[in-house]
Amino acid sequence: MSDVRNVIVIGGGPAGYTAALYTARANLEPLVIEGFNWGGQLMITSDVENYPGYPDGVLGPTMMQDFRRQAERFGAEFVTDDVTRVDFSERPFKVWVGDDLYEAEAVIVATGASARQLGLESEQRLQGRGVSYCATCDASFFRGKVVVVVGGGDSAMEEATFISRFASKVYLVHRRDEFRASRIMVDRARADEKIEFVLNKVVEEVLGDTSVTGVRLRDTVTGETSELETDGFFVAIGHDPNTALFLDWLDHEPGTGYLLTKGKGTQTNIPGVFAAGDVQDHVYRQAVTAAGSGCAAALDAERFLAAERQRRASEAQPV
Ligand code: NAP
Repeated sequence: MSDVRNVIVIGGGPAGYTAALYTARANLEPLVIEGFNWGGQLMITSDVENYPGYPDGVLGPTMMQDFRRQAERFGAEFVTDDVTRVDFSERPFKVWVGDDLYEAEAVIVATGASARQLGLESEQRLQGRGVSYCATCDASFFRGKVVVVVGGGDSAMEEATFISRFASKVYLVHRRDEFRASRIMVDRARADEKIEFVLNKVVEEVLGDTSVTGVRLRDTVTGETSELETDGFFVAIGHDPNTALFLDWLDHEPGTGYLLTKGKGTQTNIPGVFAAGDVQDHVYRQAVTAAGSGCAAALDAERFLAAERQRRASEAQPV
């Protein structure tokens, strides 16, 4: 018996678990190396109200447990640890978790992206309690409330403009007085009466015991500190794809590291290696789009493996 798997899924977020569900139901007996902190970005959100099929909303962590359980029900196996190294030079592909080596004929990379964090202890403590990294997910919880958005790129402008549809007031805090964001996005935010720019300020502390009540700011020019009362704190300073392990093997966008896939599919530059979810998508970044992409990767992997089996069978035929 060979220890070589049909498929290894790397990543335990919506894309990875959906890929696991589909490959498991296709009898491919996937091994999911889901990461030590499985669940992905939804583990740091609270209510998810925009995932179809949950009309009353669902907690992000609960939804991820449901995803995982559904894949497990059809026989997906899990390794709850982080991949430390891969070798995609030939098939079977090699994937290491420390000293443990796993091999597979196909690999689906679904390691997602991480929202950049400011790195404050108070920011960590209040995640899901007023601190958010996703306006599309959480803005509607701040209807009629005051919100601070931090960042000076297109994401910050877009998030501030989106949140202002719900909030009574949005402070856009940026550490400089010039913006990385495009002119049109800055102009749009400036034209919004609910948005007030607070420039040359960094956030030193998110205030609040069990929920956000304010932020303490430090002026980058004068060094003076001040406080702003707020109900919500949105960090919009960019995302980084979790691709460090793959950059030597897989084509990626220069500068950002997002993996590149071919056409509308999930195929990377290496036949048999597929990429799904936020690791290859910095445009939509939603749980539902990541899940859709995980499904596509599973179908692509299934077709790839079927074609390989057929090729091997025809090569084995006597002439
Ligand atoms: P970004 O362009 O890298 O901007 C990040 C912003 O966060 C910068 O203003 C940066 O300040 C600030 N920042 C970074 N670390 C910080 C820290 N520790 N404390 C305080 N501020 C910090 O990221 P992004 O806005 O997410 O955009 C990423 C890419 O997606 C860009 O190419 C963007 O154009 C694109 N995007 C496009 C759209 C759209 O067109 N609709 C929407 C969103 C994003 P400094 O400027 O001082 O470095």
